[in-house]
Amino acid sequence: MKLICIGRNYTDHIKELENEKPTDPVVFLKPDTAILLKKQPFFIPEFSNDVHHEVEVLVKINRVGKYIDKKFAHKYYKEIGLGIDFTARDLQTQLKAKGLPWEKAKSFDGAAVIGSWLPKTAFQDLNNINFSLKKNNQVVQQGNTSLMLWKIDEIIEYVSKYFTLKIGDVIFTGTPAGVSKVFANDKLKGYLEDKELFSITVK
Ligand code: ZN
Repeated sequence: MKLICIGRNYTDHIKELENEKPTDPVVFLKPDTAILLKKQPFFIPEFSNDVHHEVEVLVKINRVGKYIDKKFAHKYYKEIGLGIDFTARDLQTQLKAKGLPWEKAKSFDGAAVIGSWLPKTAFQDLNNINFSLKKNNQVVQQGNTSLMLWKIDEIIEYVSKYFTLKIGDVIFTGTPAGVSKVFANDKLKGYLEDKELFSITVK
């Protein structure tokens, strides 16, 4: 399975990193080895001094598809989740400056947190879901899916032009503002509406 990630999908986070607003979604992949194993701590890798949390709403694909029209995209997922796209920001900034791919900064082991899943029927409107991340019991990131530049079904339409979606693939839909550096012993907890979907410790 693969993790398909969308960058720059919230205007406030684009401003925060002083990026340009894209005309197409920014897309990158993480391999399955990037998934942080359940109940394991996140270890800050030795090659970075500035790893950031990016809390993101996740979508789990449950049908194979290619060239999916956004009208039919809802048939390709039944569960919504929450995760973290850990990013070695110092390394990403160097790679970006050279026009190089981001994988070393985004796709290292443990860089993808995938929390528990909820049936999409638990939500009245998938384009109006509140989510948040608490670091050491303080809310550091807060978002609502209504603020996405590309909504879930539009993301599926777009990425399926390039990649066949397979059962079990996970889409990371981008992060709102509030990204910041993590330190050893930080506790990160993610919430979709009022439900806690993950709790991890940084080491
Ligand atoms: Zn991200």
